[in-house]
Amino acid sequence: MPLHCFKVIACISPALLLLAAGASGQIIPTKPAPLTPQVPTGTGVCSIEKSCAELAPAMIQSAQGQSPLEENLRYLSDVIGGRVTGTPAADRAARWAVEAFRRAGVDEVHTEKFTIPISWSEGHTRVEILSPEPFPVRLVSIGWSPPTLEGGLTTEIIDVGAGDVEGFTKAGPATKGAILLVHSSLLVTWDDLSNEYTMHPAIVDRAVKAGAAAIFWMSTRPNLLLYRHDLSVNGELDKLPQAVVAREDAERIARFLHGGQKVRAHFDMPNRVGGPVESENVVAEIRGREKPDEFVLIGAHLDSWDLGTGALDDGCNVAMLIDAARVIHASGTIPRRSIRFALFTGEEQGMLGSAAYAHAHRAELDRMDAAMVFDSGVGRVIGFTLGGRKDTESTVRDALKPVEALGVNQFTFEADADTDNFDFLLEGVPTLVANQEPANYMLNYHAASDTFDKVDIPSLKHNTAITAVSSFALADNEERIGPRQSRAEVEQLLKDTGLEESLRSSILWPLWKSGERGRQP
Ligand SMILES: [Zn+2]
Repeated sequence: MPLHCFKVIACISPALLLLAAGASGQIIPTKPAPLTPQVPTGTGVCSIEKSCAELAPAMIQSAQGQSPLEENLRYLSDVIGGRVTGTPAADRAARWAVEAFRRAGVDEVHTEKFTIPISWSEGHTRVEILSPEPFPVRLVSIGWSPPTLEGGLTTEIIDVGAGDVEGFTKAGPATKGAILLVHSSLLVTWDDLSNEYTMHPAIVDRAVKAGAAAIFWMSTRPNLLLYRHDLSVNGELDKLPQAVVAREDAERIARFLHGGQKVRAHFDMPNRVGGPVESENVVAEIRGREKPDEFVLIGAHLDSWDLGTGALDDGCNVAMLIDAARVIHASGTIPRRSIRFALFTGEEQGMLGSAAYAHAHRAELDRMDAAMVFDSGVGRVIGFTLGGRKDTESTVRDALKPVEALGVNQFTFEADADTDNFDFLLEGVPTLVANQEPANYMLNYHAASDTFDKVDIPSLKHNTAITAVSSFALADNEERIGPRQSRAEVEQLLKDTGLEESLRSSILWPLWKSGERGRQP
């Protein structure tokens, strides 16, 4: 017998369990989403025994064959569209996802509410260049930026180079009351993206200290492409008004400034900011046969930005999780432990939904085996990063043998604070974040171009096969993939991986230190 197998001795059709469970606490969409027909509901009680080697090919075939995956993603991205946390579109997405999971055949699905500190939406952002020559400038507010004062502001644009100390020193006292133009390099690699996030808070702090009125970030993408970032990571309003300016327009402003000409502008960004607002995670479960209270959590985020339709980030992985649930259900087999599928919201505002989930479920995290998260678009999954947990590598490698032939063999150990595994890592739970080929992720990241047409469906089906088999493999593995770490062990992990160093400059650090987020002492 292979070391790690999906050994199924007896199972009851999840569809029957669903009927028995009733619909308490579940939200029924007022108008059902036009999903493709329900999958077959299985054959009721069964008694089969299969090794992983026998079962995986059928799951892979099911994932790669005809499925509701593409239509689900089309509906989520085209019909519901961009789904910013706390907006009606995000609520519609949650109702739709509940129904989609039901049709996939899960045992149970519900939503879990949490509150984000403020609601936010962009108004009519515009800038008018007053001198030396009027010309159009295309720009968009960053997420959770404060508005400009009513009526906007009229002031000079001052070039601060890359926004480093040298740039500010060179610009001198002219930065006071001005709009600061910060240059950028083109975004090409994951490292570029991570540098961007690492550098920005210090630049904002310098701007605040200099008494600047606002920041214009030069777009990191060419061809007038605009995108929306959020630089605050706790759902609070950022420190001063900031907009992303089309790269070509920003370069044009910079050329006037370099030529010694002053550029004056009227900038109006009437963002709408409201009080605390509820959002909801969608959580579905396939109940384990032997240890139903132990579970593996598979996560992706349902919220997105709204210039595009959040197809790559992270709609494709939402559709993938739902289809992985269908594939597992359709296999007619039940893993040893439960599999929970979690679609978090608030990810873009600082992993708020997964933080709320980890907080609300603290009492059962000892029984949580692992969190496996997908949040890098549609590039093929080539392995997982294990968040600094070298102790989990050999078990994970063994468990995931059935997907080795699909190219899953790169296991790495970085620990980052950039997606929904973060709070589980802080809680000491082993985490796996998919390592994916970059594909077209960077160019379309948070951009107006993140739309359905960018998603390569065969690649998404390939990843669905990997996800279905991997989540089954982890949940069915005889042994847990690793113990839950104590707070002292998590502290050591943060030091060893260098995550502590990057967290120290972030608002996340005091939240971890105070115990608001992460493992309790
Ligand atoms: Zn994402």
